[in-house]
Amino acid sequence: ERLAERPHVVLLASPGAGHLIPLAELARRLVELHGFAATVVTFTNFSAPELLACLPASVATAALPAVQIDDLPATARNGGVLVELSRRSLPNIRALVRSISNSSTAPLAALVPDFFCSSALPIAVELGVPGYLFVPSSLAYVAFTRHIVELNQGAAPGEYRDLVVPLELPGGVSLCGADLPDPEHQLYPQLVEWGRSYCLADGVLVNTFYEMEPATVEAFKQLAVPEQGSCAFFFPPVFPVGPFVRQTDRHEPTAGALSPCLEWLDRQPAGSVVYVAFGSGGALSVEQTAELAAGLEASGQRFLWVVRMPSTDVGRCGAGGDDPLAWLPEGFLARTSGRGLAVAAWAPQVRVLAHPATAAFVSHCGWNSTLESVGCGVPMLAWPLYAEQRMNAVLLEEKLGMALRVPPAREDGRCLVTRHEIAKAVKELVEGGQKVRRRVEDLQKAAARAWLPEGPSRRALEQVAVKWKAALGTAK
Ligand code: UDP
Repeated sequence: ERLAERPHVVLLASPGAGHLIPLAELARRLVELHGFAATVVTFTNFSAPELLACLPASVATAALPAVQIDDLPATARNGGVLVELSRRSLPNIRALVRSISNSSTAPLAALVPDFFCSSALPIAVELGVPGYLFVPSSLAYVAFTRHIVELNQGAAPGEYRDLVVPLELPGGVSLCGADLPDPEHQLYPQLVEWGRSYCLADGVLVNTFYEMEPATVEAFKQLAVPEQGSCAFFFPPVFPVGPFVRQTDRHEPTAGALSPCLEWLDRQPAGSVVYVAFGSGGALSVEQTAELAAGLEASGQRFLWVVRMPSTDVGRCGAGGDDPLAWLPEGFLARTSGRGLAVAAWAPQVRVLAHPATAAFVSHCGWNSTLESVGCGVPMLAWPLYAEQRMNAVLLEEKLGMALRVPPAREDGRCLVTRHEIAKAVKELVEGGQKVRRRVEDLQKAAARAWLPEGPSRRALEQVAVKWKAALGTAK
Protein backbone atom coordinates (compact mmCIF):
# COMPACT_ATOMS: atom_id res chain seq x y z
CA GLU A 1 0.00 0.00 0.00
CA ARG A 2 1.42 3.38 -0.95
CA LEU A 3 1.64 6.09 1.70
CA ALA A 4 -0.17 8.49 -0.64
CA GLU A 5 -3.28 6.34 -0.46
CA ARG A 6 -3.48 6.21 3.30
CA PRO A 7 -5.63 8.60 5.32
CA HIS A 8 -3.43 11.48 6.28
CA VAL A 9 -2.72 12.95 9.73
CA VAL A 10 -1.17 16.43 9.87
CA LEU A 11 0.72 17.26 13.08
CA LEU A 12 1.90 20.76 14.02
CA ALA A 13 5.10 21.08 16.07
CA SER A 14 5.97 24.36 17.76
CA PRO A 15 9.70 25.20 17.78
CA GLY A 16 11.91 23.36 20.28
CA ALA A 17 13.42 19.91 20.62
CA GLY A 18 11.08 19.14 23.50
CA HIS A 19 8.04 19.66 21.27
CA LEU A 20 9.18 18.29 17.91
CA ILE A 21 10.83 15.04 19.04
CA PRO A 22 7.87 13.52 20.91
CA LEU A 23 5.37 14.69 18.26
CA ALA A 24 7.45 13.00 15.55
CA GLU A 25 7.50 9.79 17.61
CA LEU A 26 3.70 9.96 17.86
CA ALA A 27 3.55 10.43 14.08
CA ARG A 28 5.81 7.41 13.55
CA ARG A 29 3.45 5.19 15.58
CA LEU A 30 0.46 6.41 13.58
CA VAL A 31 2.25 5.42 10.36
CA GLU A 32 3.87 2.19 11.47
CA LEU A 33 1.08 0.76 13.61
CA HIS A 34 -2.16 2.33 12.45
CA GLY A 35 -1.91 2.63 8.68
CA PHE A 36 -1.98 6.43 8.44
CA ALA A 37 0.32 8.69 6.45
CA ALA A 38 1.69 11.53 8.58
CA THR A 39 3.19 14.94 7.94
CA VAL A 40 4.86 16.88 10.73
CA VAL A 41 4.62 20.61 10.06
CA THR A 42 7.34 22.82 11.53
CA PHE A 43 8.03 26.54 11.69
CA THR A 44 10.87 28.31 9.91
CA ASN A 45 11.17 30.87 12.70
CA PHE A 46 13.45 29.32 15.35
CA SER A 47 13.92 26.26 13.17
CA ALA A 48 16.62 23.74 14.06
CA PRO A 49 17.65 21.90 10.86
CA GLU A 50 19.79 19.44 12.83
CA LEU A 51 16.63 18.25 14.59
CA LEU A 52 14.69 17.82 11.35
CA ALA A 53 17.48 15.70 9.95
CA CYS A 54 16.96 12.97 12.52
CA LEU A 55 13.20 12.56 12.35
CA PRO A 56 11.80 9.10 11.62
CA ALA A 57 12.04 8.23 7.91
CA SER A 58 8.42 7.09 7.68
CA VAL A 59 7.17 10.57 8.60
CA ALA A 60 6.99 13.40 6.05
CA THR A 61 7.80 16.97 7.02
CA ALA A 62 6.73 20.37 5.71
CA ALA A 63 7.90 23.79 6.86
CA LEU A 64 5.71 26.86 7.19
CA PRO A 65 7.11 30.08 5.73
CA ALA A 66 8.72 32.45 8.23
CA VAL A 67 6.51 35.21 9.59
CA GLN A 68 7.35 38.62 11.04
CA ILE A 69 8.09 38.35 14.76
CA ASP A 70 10.71 41.07 15.19
CA ASP A 71 8.48 42.83 17.68
CA LEU A 72 8.43 39.80 20.02
CA PRO A 73 11.11 38.71 22.51
CA ALA A 74 13.68 36.74 20.52
CA THR A 75 13.37 33.51 22.45
CA ALA A 76 11.62 30.26 21.67
CA ARG A 77 11.80 29.46 25.38
CA ASN A 78 8.91 31.81 25.97
CA GLY A 79 5.58 30.03 25.51
CA GLY A 80 3.84 33.33 24.75
CA VAL A 81 6.14 33.87 21.78
CA LEU A 82 5.35 30.40 20.43
CA VAL A 83 1.61 30.90 20.83
CA GLU A 84 1.85 34.24 18.99
CA LEU A 85 4.04 32.71 16.28
CA SER A 86 1.45 30.04 15.59
CA ARG A 87 -1.35 32.61 15.64
CA ARG A 88 0.42 34.77 13.05
CA SER A 89 1.06 31.67 10.96
CA LEU A 90 -2.60 30.64 10.84
CA PRO A 91 -3.21 31.66 7.19
CA ASN A 92 -0.11 29.67 6.19
CA ILE A 93 -1.16 26.72 8.32
CA ARG A 94 -4.61 26.74 6.75
CA ALA A 95 -3.14 26.88 3.23
CA LEU A 96 -0.65 24.11 3.97
CA VAL A 97 -3.19 21.77 5.54
CA ARG A 98 -5.56 22.35 2.63
CA SER A 99 -2.83 21.69 0.08
CA ILE A 100 -1.77 18.47 1.85
CA SER A 101 -5.36 17.36 1.92
CA ASN A 102 -5.94 18.27 -1.77
CA SER A 103 -2.70 16.79 -3.09
CA SER A 104 -3.47 13.29 -1.95
CA THR A 105 -6.11 10.89 -3.16
CA ALA A 106 -6.63 9.85 0.44
CA PRO A 107 -8.63 11.95 2.88
CA LEU A 108 -7.34 14.03 5.76
CA ALA A 109 -7.95 11.95 8.91
CA ALA A 110 -7.05 14.38 11.71
CA LEU A 111 -5.22 17.55 12.62
CA VAL A 112 -2.93 17.36 15.68
CA PRO A 113 -1.41 20.66 16.83
CA ASP A 114 0.79 20.70 19.92
CA PHE A 115 -0.31 22.78 22.91
CA PHE A 116 1.36 25.97 21.72
CA CYS A 117 -0.43 25.69 18.36
CA SER A 118 -3.95 25.28 19.76
CA SER A 119 -5.07 28.30 17.72
CA ALA A 120 -5.07 25.91 14.72
CA LEU A 121 -7.88 23.77 16.18
CA PRO A 122 -10.64 25.77 14.38
CA ILE A 123 -9.07 24.66 11.08
CA ALA A 124 -9.99 21.08 11.98
CA VAL A 125 -13.55 22.26 12.61
CA GLU A 126 -13.62 24.07 9.22
CA LEU A 127 -12.39 20.96 7.43
CA GLY A 128 -14.73 18.67 9.33
CA VAL A 129 -11.96 16.43 10.70
CA PRO A 130 -11.07 15.52 14.30
CA GLY A 131 -8.76 18.03 15.98
CA TYR A 132 -6.62 16.52 18.77
CA LEU A 133 -4.24 18.51 20.91
CA PHE A 134 -0.82 17.03 21.70
CA VAL A 135 0.62 17.91 25.12
CA PRO A 136 4.35 17.16 25.45
CA SER A 137 4.08 17.46 29.21
CA SER A 138 2.47 15.70 32.15
CA LEU A 139 -1.18 14.89 32.73
CA ALA A 140 -0.83 16.90 35.96
CA TYR A 141 -0.11 19.92 33.76
CA VAL A 142 -3.33 19.23 31.86
CA ALA A 143 -5.14 18.89 35.22
CA PHE A 144 -3.75 22.27 36.29
CA THR A 145 -4.93 23.84 33.03
CA ARG A 146 -8.35 22.27 33.35
CA HIS A 147 -8.58 23.55 36.91
CA ILE A 148 -7.89 27.19 36.06
CA VAL A 149 -10.24 27.11 33.07
CA GLU A 150 -13.01 25.72 35.24
CA LEU A 151 -12.29 28.28 37.95
CA ASN A 152 -12.52 31.16 35.49
CA GLN A 153 -15.50 29.84 33.57
CA GLY A 154 -17.58 32.54 31.99
CA ALA A 155 -15.62 35.24 33.74
CA ALA A 156 -12.71 37.47 32.92
CA PRO A 157 -9.53 35.66 33.89
CA GLY A 158 -8.61 36.57 37.44
CA GLU A 159 -5.18 36.37 38.94
CA TYR A 160 -2.90 33.79 40.46
CA ARG A 161 -3.76 35.06 43.90
CA ASP A 162 -7.33 33.85 43.35
CA LEU A 163 -6.00 30.31 43.49
CA VAL A 164 -6.26 28.63 46.85
CA VAL A 165 -2.85 27.25 47.72
CA PRO A 166 -1.71 24.64 48.28
CA LEU A 167 -3.55 23.76 45.11
CA GLU A 168 -4.78 20.16 45.26
CA LEU A 169 -5.04 18.87 41.72
CA PRO A 170 -7.32 15.95 40.90
CA GLY A 171 -5.02 12.97 41.35
CA GLY A 172 -3.38 14.33 44.46
CA VAL A 173 -0.51 16.49 43.22
CA SER A 174 -0.37 19.33 45.72
CA LEU A 175 1.29 22.58 44.65
CA CYS A 176 2.41 25.46 46.83
CA GLY A 177 2.44 28.93 45.27
CA ALA A 178 6.07 28.77 44.16
CA ASP A 179 5.55 25.42 42.41
CA LEU A 180 2.70 26.56 40.15
CA PRO A 181 3.53 26.63 36.43
CA ASP A 182 4.79 30.07 35.39
CA PRO A 183 3.94 31.58 38.78
CA GLU A 184 4.44 35.15 37.55
CA HIS A 185 1.15 36.96 38.16
CA GLN A 186 1.01 38.71 34.82
CA LEU A 187 1.03 35.36 32.98
CA TYR A 188 -2.12 34.04 34.60
CA PRO A 189 -4.69 35.48 32.17
CA GLN A 190 -2.59 34.05 29.33
CA LEU A 191 -2.60 30.58 30.91
CA VAL A 192 -6.38 30.75 31.29
CA GLU A 193 -6.77 31.82 27.67
CA TRP A 194 -4.54 28.97 26.41
CA GLY A 195 -6.49 26.55 28.55
CA ARG A 196 -9.76 27.77 27.07
CA SER A 197 -8.41 27.21 23.59
CA TYR A 198 -7.75 23.54 24.47
CA CYS A 199 -11.49 23.07 24.91
CA LEU A 200 -11.98 23.17 21.13
CA ALA A 201 -10.10 19.88 20.81
CA ASP A 202 -11.93 16.58 20.37
CA GLY A 203 -9.29 14.95 22.54
CA VAL A 204 -5.97 15.58 24.22
CA LEU A 205 -3.04 13.25 23.58
CA VAL A 206 -0.62 13.43 26.50
CA ASN A 207 3.00 12.30 26.52
CA THR A 208 2.73 10.32 29.73
CA PHE A 209 1.82 6.77 30.79
CA TYR A 210 -0.34 5.18 33.45
CA GLU A 211 2.24 4.36 36.14
CA MET A 212 3.81 7.79 35.88
CA GLU A 213 0.57 9.41 37.04
CA PRO A 214 -1.90 6.67 38.00
CA ALA A 215 -4.08 8.74 40.33
CA THR A 216 -4.32 11.59 37.83
CA VAL A 217 -5.33 9.19 35.04
CA GLU A 218 -8.01 7.77 37.32
CA ALA A 219 -9.18 11.25 38.33
CA PHE A 220 -9.66 12.20 34.67
CA LYS A 221 -11.77 9.06 34.16
CA GLN A 222 -14.07 10.29 36.93
CA LEU A 223 -14.15 13.82 35.53
CA ALA A 224 -15.16 12.44 32.13
CA VAL A 225 -18.39 10.96 33.49
CA PRO A 226 -21.06 13.56 32.67
CA GLU A 227 -23.35 14.36 35.55
CA GLN A 228 -26.94 13.69 34.80
CA GLY A 229 -28.95 16.74 33.87
CA SER A 230 -26.13 19.10 34.62
CA CYS A 231 -24.83 21.52 32.09
CA ALA A 232 -21.36 20.36 33.02
CA PHE A 233 -18.16 22.13 32.26
CA PHE A 234 -16.66 20.64 29.09
CA PHE A 235 -13.04 19.60 28.82
CA PRO A 236 -11.97 17.18 26.08
CA PRO A 237 -11.17 13.57 26.98
CA VAL A 238 -7.49 12.86 27.68
CA PHE A 239 -5.45 9.96 26.28
CA PRO A 240 -2.13 9.09 27.98
CA VAL A 241 -0.21 7.73 24.96
CA GLY A 242 3.46 8.09 25.93
CA PRO A 243 6.25 7.87 26.65
CA PHE A 244 7.51 9.19 23.32
CA VAL A 245 11.25 9.50 23.56
CA ARG A 246 13.77 9.96 20.80
CA GLN A 247 15.14 6.61 19.59
CA THR A 248 18.81 6.15 20.37
CA ASP A 249 19.56 4.05 17.32
CA ARG A 250 19.07 6.92 14.90
CA HIS A 251 22.19 8.91 14.16
CA GLU A 252 22.37 12.41 15.43
CA PRO A 253 23.73 14.40 12.52
CA THR A 254 26.36 16.02 14.71
CA ALA A 255 27.35 12.68 16.20
CA GLY A 256 30.97 13.17 15.17
CA ALA A 257 31.28 16.31 17.22
CA LEU A 258 29.34 14.82 20.10
CA SER A 259 31.00 11.46 20.37
CA PRO A 260 33.72 12.77 22.74
CA CYS A 261 31.05 12.55 25.45
CA LEU A 262 30.34 8.93 24.67
CA GLU A 263 33.99 8.05 24.24
CA TRP A 264 34.72 9.64 27.57
CA LEU A 265 31.84 7.72 29.20
CA ASP A 266 33.22 4.49 27.75
CA ARG A 267 36.33 5.03 29.86
CA GLN A 268 34.44 5.53 33.16
CA PRO A 269 33.42 2.78 35.59
CA ALA A 270 29.82 1.54 35.43
CA GLY A 271 27.34 3.58 37.46
CA SER A 272 29.82 6.30 38.43
CA VAL A 273 29.00 9.46 36.46
CA VAL A 274 26.61 12.29 37.27
CA TYR A 275 25.15 13.80 34.08
CA VAL A 276 24.28 17.50 34.45
CA ALA A 277 22.09 19.25 31.86
CA PHE A 278 19.33 21.86 31.88
CA GLY A 279 17.57 21.20 28.58
CA SER A 280 17.49 23.32 25.48
CA GLY A 281 16.51 26.56 27.21
CA GLY A 282 17.70 26.39 30.80
CA ALA A 283 20.32 28.91 31.87
CA LEU A 284 21.86 29.49 35.29
CA SER A 285 23.18 32.84 36.47
CA VAL A 286 26.94 33.44 36.41
CA GLU A 287 27.01 33.13 40.19
CA GLN A 288 25.00 29.89 40.14
CA THR A 289 27.22 28.42 37.41
CA ALA A 290 30.27 29.02 39.60
CA GLU A 291 28.49 27.52 42.61
CA LEU A 292 27.50 24.41 40.65
CA ALA A 293 31.11 24.00 39.50
CA ALA A 294 32.32 24.26 43.09
CA GLY A 295 29.63 21.79 44.21
CA LEU A 296 30.55 19.21 41.60
CA GLU A 297 34.20 19.62 42.50
CA ALA A 298 33.49 19.24 46.22
CA SER A 299 31.31 16.15 45.66
CA GLY A 300 34.34 14.17 44.52
CA GLN A 301 32.09 12.40 41.98
CA ARG A 302 32.68 11.91 38.27
CA PHE A 303 30.53 14.18 36.14
CA LEU A 304 29.56 15.06 32.58
CA TRP A 305 28.24 18.63 32.47
CA VAL A 306 26.54 20.26 29.50
CA VAL A 307 27.42 23.89 30.15
CA ARG A 308 25.17 26.53 28.60
CA MET A 309 25.73 30.27 28.37
CA PRO A 310 24.86 31.76 31.74
CA SER A 311 21.96 34.17 31.88
CA THR A 312 23.40 37.59 32.45
CA ASP A 313 22.02 41.10 32.64
CA VAL A 314 25.19 42.55 31.19
CA GLY A 315 24.64 40.89 27.85
CA ARG A 316 26.78 38.32 26.22
CA CYS A 317 29.95 40.33 25.78
CA GLY A 318 31.31 39.84 29.29
CA ALA A 319 34.62 38.24 30.17
CA GLY A 320 33.56 34.83 28.88
CA GLY A 321 32.55 35.87 25.37
CA ASP A 322 30.17 33.37 23.81
CA ASP A 323 31.97 30.19 24.82
CA PRO A 324 30.03 28.75 27.77
CA LEU A 325 33.11 26.92 29.06
CA ALA A 326 34.95 30.23 29.41
CA TRP A 327 32.43 31.17 32.14
CA LEU A 328 33.57 28.34 34.42
CA PRO A 329 35.65 29.29 37.45
CA GLU A 330 39.39 29.72 36.96
CA GLY A 331 41.25 26.41 37.11
CA PHE A 332 38.06 24.31 37.46
CA LEU A 333 38.62 22.26 34.31
CA ALA A 334 42.25 21.55 35.18
CA ARG A 335 41.44 20.58 38.75
CA THR A 336 38.66 18.19 37.73
CA SER A 337 40.26 16.80 34.58
CA GLY A 338 40.22 13.03 34.57
CA ARG A 339 37.03 12.76 36.60
CA GLY A 340 34.92 15.46 35.00
CA LEU A 341 34.06 16.48 31.45
CA ALA A 342 32.40 19.77 30.57
CA VAL A 343 30.95 20.15 27.08
CA ALA A 344 29.53 23.30 25.55
CA ALA A 345 25.80 23.64 24.86
CA TRP A 346 24.66 20.16 23.77
CA ALA A 347 25.19 16.44 24.38
CA PRO A 348 23.47 13.40 22.83
CA GLN A 349 21.33 13.15 25.94
CA VAL A 350 19.43 9.92 25.38
CA ARG A 351 22.64 8.07 24.59
CA VAL A 352 24.34 9.58 27.61
CA LEU A 353 21.48 8.51 29.88
CA ALA A 354 21.46 5.03 28.35
CA HIS A 355 25.21 4.62 28.89
CA PRO A 356 26.11 2.13 31.65
CA ALA A 357 28.54 4.62 33.22
CA THR A 358 25.77 7.11 33.95
CA ALA A 359 24.54 6.94 37.56
CA ALA A 360 22.39 10.04 38.08
CA PHE A 361 20.95 13.05 36.25
CA VAL A 362 21.03 16.60 37.59
CA SER A 363 18.15 18.02 35.54
CA HIS A 364 15.89 21.03 35.09
CA CYS A 365 12.99 18.51 34.96
CA GLY A 366 11.85 19.35 31.44
CA TRP A 367 9.25 16.69 30.72
CA ASN A 368 11.25 15.10 27.89
CA SER A 369 14.37 14.90 30.03
CA THR A 370 12.24 13.34 32.74
CA LEU A 371 10.80 10.64 30.47
CA GLU A 372 14.27 9.95 29.05
CA SER A 373 15.65 9.49 32.56
CA VAL A 374 12.77 7.14 33.39
CA GLY A 375 13.31 5.22 30.16
CA CYS A 376 16.93 4.63 31.11
CA GLY A 377 16.25 3.99 34.81
CA VAL A 378 18.41 6.91 35.97
CA PRO A 379 17.44 8.68 39.24
CA MET A 380 17.35 12.48 39.17
CA LEU A 381 18.38 15.45 41.19
CA ALA A 382 15.52 17.80 40.38
CA TRP A 383 16.61 21.38 39.79
CA PRO A 384 13.60 23.04 38.17
CA LEU A 385 14.07 26.44 36.52
CA TYR A 386 10.96 27.73 34.69
CA ALA A 387 7.64 26.90 33.00
CA GLU A 388 6.00 23.82 34.57
CA GLN A 389 9.31 22.36 35.79
CA ARG A 390 8.69 22.97 39.50
CA MET A 391 5.45 21.08 39.22
CA ASN A 392 7.30 18.23 37.52
CA ALA A 393 9.81 18.24 40.38
CA VAL A 394 6.99 17.88 42.92
CA LEU A 395 5.64 14.91 40.99
CA LEU A 396 9.08 13.26 40.73
CA GLU A 397 10.09 13.79 44.33
CA GLU A 398 6.87 13.56 46.30
CA LYS A 399 4.57 11.35 44.23
CA LEU A 400 7.03 9.06 42.47
CA GLY A 401 10.08 9.09 44.76
CA MET A 402 12.43 8.83 41.77
CA ALA A 403 14.23 12.11 42.46
CA LEU A 404 15.83 14.15 45.20
CA ARG A 405 15.29 17.87 44.91
CA VAL A 406 17.68 20.77 45.36
CA PRO A 407 16.45 23.07 48.13
CA PRO A 408 13.92 25.53 46.69
CA ALA A 409 14.27 29.30 46.89
CA ARG A 410 14.41 30.50 50.48
CA GLU A 411 12.12 32.91 52.26
CA ASP A 412 14.69 35.69 52.02
CA GLY A 413 14.36 35.55 48.24
CA ARG A 414 17.90 34.27 47.75
CA CYS A 415 17.61 31.51 45.25
CA LEU A 416 21.21 30.41 44.98
CA VAL A 417 21.68 26.68 45.49
CA THR A 418 24.93 26.46 47.45
CA ARG A 419 27.98 24.31 46.68
CA HIS A 420 27.41 22.40 49.92
CA GLU A 421 23.82 21.58 49.03
CA ILE A 422 24.89 20.45 45.56
CA ALA A 423 27.81 18.33 46.78
CA LYS A 424 25.66 16.69 49.46
CA ALA A 425 22.77 15.87 47.12
CA VAL A 426 25.01 14.56 44.35
CA LYS A 427 26.92 12.31 46.76
CA GLU A 428 23.72 11.05 48.30
CA LEU A 429 22.30 10.18 44.89
CA VAL A 430 25.38 8.35 43.60
CA GLU A 431 26.62 6.67 46.76
CA GLY A 432 23.33 6.03 48.52
CA GLY A 433 20.01 6.63 46.89
CA GLN A 434 18.91 2.95 46.76
CA LYS A 435 15.30 3.88 47.33
CA VAL A 436 15.09 6.41 44.49
CA ARG A 437 17.00 4.05 42.24
CA ARG A 438 14.55 1.23 42.92
CA ARG A 439 11.62 3.54 42.22
CA VAL A 440 13.01 4.72 38.91
CA GLU A 441 13.80 1.16 37.88
CA ASP A 442 10.19 0.17 38.55
CA LEU A 443 9.05 3.08 36.41
CA GLN A 444 11.50 2.12 33.69
CA LYS A 445 9.81 -1.29 33.48
CA ALA A 446 6.38 0.29 33.48
CA ALA A 447 7.43 2.67 30.69
CA ALA A 448 8.51 -0.29 28.58
CA ARG A 449 5.21 -2.11 29.31
CA ALA A 450 3.16 0.93 28.28
CA TRP A 451 3.98 0.26 24.63
CA LEU A 452 3.90 -3.55 24.61
CA PRO A 453 1.06 -4.91 22.43
CA GLU A 454 -1.47 -4.84 25.29
CA GLY A 455 0.13 -1.89 27.08
CA PRO A 456 -2.10 0.96 28.24
CA SER A 457 -0.55 3.69 26.07
CA ARG A 458 -0.66 1.56 22.98
CA ARG A 459 -4.30 0.76 23.62
CA ALA A 460 -5.11 4.43 24.22
CA LEU A 461 -3.64 5.41 20.86
CA GLU A 462 -5.43 2.48 19.25
CA GLN A 463 -8.70 3.83 20.62
CA VAL A 464 -7.96 7.23 19.06
CA ALA A 465 -6.99 5.68 15.71
CA VAL A 466 -10.29 3.77 15.66
CA LYS A 467 -12.22 7.00 16.29
CA TRP A 468 -10.40 8.77 13.46
CA LYS A 469 -11.07 5.92 11.04
CA ALA A 470 -14.74 5.85 12.03
CA ALA A 471 -14.94 9.61 11.41
CA LEU A 472 -13.54 9.04 7.90
CA GLY A 473 -16.42 6.75 7.19
CA THR A 474 -18.94 9.46 8.04
CA ALA A 475 -17.11 12.48 6.52
CA LYS A 476 -18.76 14.18 3.58
N1 UDP B 1 18.68 17.61 24.79
C1 UDP B 1 19.79 17.00 24.25
N2 UDP B 1 21.03 17.45 24.59
C2 UDP B 1 21.21 18.46 25.49
C3 UDP B 1 20.07 19.07 26.06
C4 UDP B 1 18.81 18.61 25.69
O1 UDP B 1 19.66 16.07 23.44
O2 UDP B 1 22.35 18.80 25.76
C5 UDP B 1 17.33 17.12 24.40
C6 UDP B 1 16.78 16.24 25.50
O3 UDP B 1 17.18 14.91 25.29
C7 UDP B 1 15.28 16.44 25.38
C8 UDP B 1 15.16 17.86 24.83
O4 UDP B 1 16.43 18.19 24.28
O5 UDP B 1 14.74 15.55 24.44
C9 UDP B 1 14.80 18.86 25.92
O6 UDP B 1 13.48 18.74 26.26
P1 UDP B 1 12.96 18.98 27.73
O7 UDP B 1 11.49 18.84 27.71
O8 UDP B 1 13.69 18.13 28.70
O9 UDP B 1 13.39 20.46 28.08
P2 UDP B 1 13.22 21.85 27.33
O10 UDP B 1 14.42 21.97 26.47
O11 UDP B 1 11.94 21.80 26.56
O12 UDP B 1 13.24 22.80 28.46
